[in-house]
Amino acid sequence: MNVLAIGENMSIDTKIHLLKNRRTKIVATLGPATKEPGMIRKLIRTGVNVFRLNMSHGDHASHRTTYNHIRTIADELKVPVAILADLCGPKIRTGKFRDGQIELITDSKITVTTRDVIGEPGLVPSQYIALAEDVKPGNRILLNDGALELSVDSVAETEITCTVIHGGILKNHKGINLPGVNVSAPSLTEKDRVDAGFVLDLGVDFVALSFVRTADDISKLKSLIKKSGKDVAVIAKIEKPEALQNASAILDVADGIMVARGDLGVELKPEEVPIAQSQLIDLAKAKFKPVIVATQMLESMIENARPTRAEVTDISYAVTLGTDAVMLSAETAVGAFPIEAVNMMDRIARQTESYLWQSGAYGNPANIKSSLPVSIWDAISDTSATLAKDLMVRAILVISQSGMSAATVSSARPAAPVVVITGHPHICRRMALFWSIIPVLSEDAGSMNPNELARQVAVELKLAGKGDYILMVRGFHSNPEQNIPSVTVLTV
Ligand code: PEP
Repeated sequence: MNVLAIGENMSIDTKIHLLKNRRTKIVATLGPATKEPGMIRKLIRTGVNVFRLNMSHGDHASHRTTYNHIRTIADELKVPVAILADLCGPKIRTGKFRDGQIELITDSKITVTTRDVIGEPGLVPSQYIALAEDVKPGNRILLNDGALELSVDSVAETEITCTVIHGGILKNHKGINLPGVNVSAPSLTEKDRVDAGFVLDLGVDFVALSFVRTADDISKLKSLIKKSGKDVAVIAKIEKPEALQNASAILDVADGIMVARGDLGVELKPEEVPIAQSQLIDLAKAKFKPVIVATQMLESMIENARPTRAEVTDISYAVTLGTDAVMLSAETAVGAFPIEAVNMMDRIARQTESYLWQSGAYGNPANIKSSLPVSIWDAISDTSATLAKDLMVRAILVISQSGMSAATVSSARPAAPVVVITGHPHICRRMALFWSIIPVLSEDAGSMNPNELARQVAVELKLAGKGDYILMVRGFHSNPEQNIPSVTVLTV
């Protein structure tokens, strides 16, 4: 199949020789549908790289049980699987209703109250008590993921009088979004601090924080982690317009980001979300940090065994943009077809990547060199990708202590798979999230001759045979004095 030959008589051939190793990683949220050991085993075998424990649901005891199941099964299968705990952040919700729900009638008047009362027709309780201080007449209040919309008419102490712009059914504990409103709630709530302490004790690999607004939100979580003495990576969930404005500064502090399209899609106009997604992926790649595209990727598979064509195209688009990972939420947490959803995501990613690989899309230097010199990180990552392409190397082997060298190489999206060899189990698991990285835990990482180790691992993984080229990259360090990156071309 020649995908480059575009001419009058070109026929479209979708049967592509599939790459052996999927480049885009899969994050799956666990929940009632999948928390049992049998399901976790099947999910790993079907291709999950990272499991998400969502602190918005479930209690600590059940998360602990699930955590232990994942670790036991991953060890048994010898698969480096990472665990990400997702903290709720300042998510604002309604309270409860007397009959479990009320109907909001379009054009009618209703009151939103911050008093601790049970709701009834015409009265919506808010669990967020500063709501009346934060909103002003003219602000919009969105309920239930933006399905219902109110416009604020007036505010008097605890009572906010609103006109219903888009009505519908409102059930207990639904999300409230306040686009354009400066929400005064702290970025790390009391619940987040308790949950963070719990997940750090468990030993998760990533902690994600919801509703991040500034880099300082991430710094606060990082100092809490530092105090605990743990080495855990922090993912900033980008779901507020403020976070888009501060994306670069947030990425400088965070260890990665999630494009949390659920809430982002409520706060922005829907048509703005793909543009934000595309720019966030480019920014994360430029800063050598991983990015996860999340939410509604296979939403219809919560109930159906087959996805819509639009969902398939959405995943393919995210893969084409070069996201590190794609995420499943309700599809795997509560859906009727969790295994099928992971299998479908795996197939879509593989097919798209194989097409991109064959059409020469990978391994092209990403940096537009507007001013020289570029950073040493950019130069080495681009050089590795170019060498990998030009020499048609079978694999890039990175010997990495902290994962930094591996992240730098992966960010150039090279054509050859990236193998990271590390002596640290937690770094090995963390690498499960990064684009194309095959993590290998080796006790020989610090002691054996690196060239020999690289050759040996490439052969063991059946990536290269006698006479093939491989690249060996190592030596990146955040401390400039210890930063001695090198790229070596090796023949197996
Ligand atoms: C989102 O809003 O897209 C998201 C991932 O957050 P959560 O699933 O916690 O609502």
